[in-house]
Amino acid sequence: MAITLPRTSESEQLKKIRHTASHVMAMAVQKLFPKAQVTIGPWTETGFYYDFDIDQPFTEADLKAIKKEMVKIINRKLPVLREEVSRAEAQARIEAIREPYKLEILDSIHEPITLYHLGQEWWDLCAGPHLENTAELNPKAIALESVAGAYWRGDSSKAQLQRIYGTAWETPEQLAEYQRRKEEALKRDHRKLGKELGLFIFADPVGPGLPLWTPKGTIVRSLLEDFLKQEQIKRGYLPVATPHIGRVELFKISGHWQKYKEDMFPMMAESAEEAAQEQGFVLKPMNCPFHIQIYKSELRSYRDLPLRLAEFGTVYRYEQSGELGGLTRVRGFTVDDSHLFVTPEQLDQEFLSVVDLILSVFQSLELKNFKARLSFRDPESDKYIGAEDAWEKAEGAIRRAVQTLGMEYFEAPGEAAFYGPKLDFIFRDALEREWQLGTVQVDYNLPERFDLEYITPEGTRQRPVMIHRAPFGSLERLIGILIEEYAGDFPLWLAPVQLRLLPVSDAQLDFCRQVAQQFQAQGIRAEVDTSGDRLGKMIRNAETQKIPVMAVVGAQEVEAQTLNIRSRFAGELGALGVEDVFGKLSQAIQARTRF
Ligand SMILES: [Zn+2]
Ligand SMILES: [Zn+2]
Repeated sequence: MAITLPRTSESEQLKKIRHTASHVMAMAVQKLFPKAQVTIGPWTETGFYYDFDIDQPFTEADLKAIKKEMVKIINRKLPVLREEVSRAEAQARIEAIREPYKLEILDSIHEPITLYHLGQEWWDLCAGPHLENTAELNPKAIALESVAGAYWRGDSSKAQLQRIYGTAWETPEQLAEYQRRKEEALKRDHRKLGKELGLFIFADPVGPGLPLWTPKGTIVRSLLEDFLKQEQIKRGYLPVATPHIGRVELFKISGHWQKYKEDMFPMMAESAEEAAQEQGFVLKPMNCPFHIQIYKSELRSYRDLPLRLAEFGTVYRYEQSGELGGLTRVRGFTVDDSHLFVTPEQLDQEFLSVVDLILSVFQSLELKNFKARLSFRDPESDKYIGAEDAWEKAEGAIRRAVQTLGMEYFEAPGEAAFYGPKLDFIFRDALEREWQLGTVQVDYNLPERFDLEYITPEGTRQRPVMIHRAPFGSLERLIGILIEEYAGDFPLWLAPVQLRLLPVSDAQLDFCRQVAQQFQAQGIRAEVDTSGDRLGKMIRNAETQKIPVMAVVGAQEVEAQTLNIRSRFAGELGALGVEDVFGKLSQAIQARTRF
């Protein structure tokens, strides 16, 4: 039976368990290492940690000993007692036990000041909540996980501390499930798999957060791009291409310069004067203002609308280097961007077809487990621009779209941007982690700022409404998520190599090369293992590379003009005629099904 794991923030009981377990751990550490000083020890979503000032790092053996000591403390059934004291009293108590970190903590906390005691012999400053007795902890549901260096207050100029990470659950079954998922997440980690499968690299001289796509990864990128471009052509989108830089002025009109300057790469200016007047160029953080200029380049009539401009546009964000990680936080990424310029009357229908497009994209990518978050305005707040009835219409359009399509959704009042409501797709992966994928956003603001118009049937001028949408979000992020969701096993149509031919001996090399060429000529990504390794090793290599289809070719196969097919998904398929294999592969690729 599947076990669902609660998050700490969602469960009062888990908060108590983790708080209590962290204090028991701190008491155990101080029993075994009397010189260790305790600092802070909060809960996290999956466990807890505690930072200690100690002159040497904890070893694996230390962790074992600490856990053993914790079990002893738990078994002593110590009551957890809350005591409220005055600031002066707390200070006196801390001075008595000579714990300077606690004094600093005391300075930063508000009344009431509470101490929690484990029995008669150990206490810490804490606000709780806790269990009532250490015996309520199940030692079999607690594990100490790892040790890491940390700085006091996260400040590298301050003391270096040793942090112990632990986890604690209600039952041993929950702990086991958590550990299974953690292990699985490690196996699926897209940074690890991306390297093993040869999809992308990072290079120091290029810089952090700037992935370099190797041939295999580029194939996946192109396939995703082509796939979406085809879907868009079917739905009346028009392609555009715009530069990577533009005048600061453009982003002043859009408001990005005022609002997102910190997240943009610094301005490039030809002279100090130009810099002072903010007249240089910047790398684009968004594609919208460029597409808007294309809209504005002609006088538009209601007959031209809806106008759907689409571009795989690469944008740049000056993220802090400490926040960069794999493909999910990068400094340059490609958005599958599109801006739809529509009349207010067209908003409902256009929104619906955007959502419909996104659903069909997710289906082809085998992403099934998601729900829609409807980010609406907070009715109490006045930070939003645009007319009341326009907001009502836009929110209505979003709600009707998800209802018409029968999607699972929830409303999030107060989550809208100040310029319009939006719909986000929240995807839950095989390990129950949540990711945000595509977004669709209604915008009344940019048409206003850029003074966009169209001529109505009556000959008057009116503002169009804009829809921003990106089904993937960004190619980088999507590929990172797909690698983890597929655990590296791309469906046949997306696999960088679809078929690998394994010649049992050199005598079959020529036949394999011929067959590979024949397949390549017809658009199937086939390759031959020319390593000369033994068959067992070639099979293992193809498995590590997660190649969907292997064809083993021995003397018999050459004789009969067959391929002995082994599919990762369907297992051994036996000897099949070359034409038969081609037909079956083509069909599966066309239908985007597993083979
Ligand atoms: Zn506590
Ligand atoms: Zn946009």
